[in-house]
Amino acid sequence: MYQAARGTTDILPEEQPYWRFVEKAIADITRIYGYKRIDTPIFEDTSLFQRSAGEFTDIVQKEMYTFDDRGGNSLTLKPEGTPAVCRAYIQHGMHNLPQPVKLYYVSPIFRYDRPQAGRYRQHYQFGCEAIGDDDPAIDAEVIDIAWRFYKSLGLANISLQLNSIGCKECRPAYLNILKKYYNKHANNLCADCKTRLEKNPLRLLDCKQASCQNIAEKAPQSTDKLCPACSAHFDQLQKYLGLLEIPFIINHRLVRGLDYYTRTVFEIQPEDEGGQSTLGGGGRFDGLIEELGGKPTPAAGFAAGIERIILNLKKQNISVPMAPALQVFIACLGEKARDEAIKLAAGLRKNGISVVSATGDKSLKAQLRQANTLGARYTAIIGEEEVKAGTVTLRDMAEGGQESVDVKDMTGRLASSQ
Ligand code: AMP
Repeated sequence: MYQAARGTTDILPEEQPYWRFVEKAIADITRIYGYKRIDTPIFEDTSLFQRSAGEFTDIVQKEMYTFDDRGGNSLTLKPEGTPAVCRAYIQHGMHNLPQPVKLYYVSPIFRYDRPQAGRYRQHYQFGCEAIGDDDPAIDAEVIDIAWRFYKSLGLANISLQLNSIGCKECRPAYLNILKKYYNKHANNLCADCKTRLEKNPLRLLDCKQASCQNIAEKAPQSTDKLCPACSAHFDQLQKYLGLLEIPFIINHRLVRGLDYYTRTVFEIQPEDEGGQSTLGGGGRFDGLIEELGGKPTPAAGFAAGIERIILNLKKQNISVPMAPALQVFIACLGEKARDEAIKLAAGLRKNGISVVSATGDKSLKAQLRQANTLGARYTAIIGEEEVKAGTVTLRDMAEGGQESVDVKDMTGRLASSQ
């Protein structure tokens, strides 16, 4: 028997209310902050992601779904949202618009990850990007959106971790200091960290191995080595977060998994769990648009994983609005009754009333059982007698009573029962 591919899931009807709830919160939050929706294709040129994330990142090295199409072009299923949005910003000349351009997306994301709870090979992300402004008020706004978004869903016990990893002016000097420190500990590093020391030293700081964590704890901190401009930017950001009353923890080991970040990086996590369950994160990426062939353009953004949000909604017993109940199920007995049922269903639907009609040749008992399973508010029963009289027997599925209603009065009767 076929199964969904490893690391992918079906979102079944009973799960959908959670998705609608999150989608509604996304629509609301983006509206009140003035972000406009963008949808980009599901795949892009492979090199777009290679250039953005960085050659020695996990995403590029291990996680991309890359394939050649029939024309011999190398394409990759989106492993993250930001590069595609930046590509669209450049392609559509959005630098001509008033800056910053504020965009959001909801998109499937594909990563060849090790599947486990909250980690899938296809998942969905909601992301916001503000492109074209280096003001720390933008960093604060992006963090504010993420924070208020989780709060608006009712999520409690979340924490914001914040760091600044400097810019292309001050980071090289910091990386040298970091490498010097790590070289002294090289013998005690895990195999991955030995490679990171050569290829991607910033990622040494967020290694999850216990032995490396002790070393990382005592490592030189980027915030001590910021240039005056980055330092002032970070101070302003903290001031604005204070004004917005958003609590944060400075985490010197927070670096994020992608190379394009500059200055601000942040993550939002459930308080009772470690970094594996991060709800969302983001930061500033002032060099990315230029790296992708655009004019030098500062930008900041974040992405939130929707499956993880839903896991946490369930964990915290947050109830979500159920899908509206089916208003009426039409049960019928006999050929003539079937004709009447088809006409009645069409008339009710024209008036916006939700209807499921019985099909096939089932007993009344089986039809009522079906109405029950579907959660119908009413069942309209049409048998020989009802056909003759031009009526239906309307059964209230919740209360149990029933009454005879003229077919022509059905729309009014059901509309008033809403
Ligand atoms: P990242 O771009 O890795 O920071 O991802 C942004 C957010 O997407 C994370 O904070 C998670 O909530 C979510 N996420 C990332 N990878 C996965 C995955 N493999 N499965 C489910 N959610 C994920």
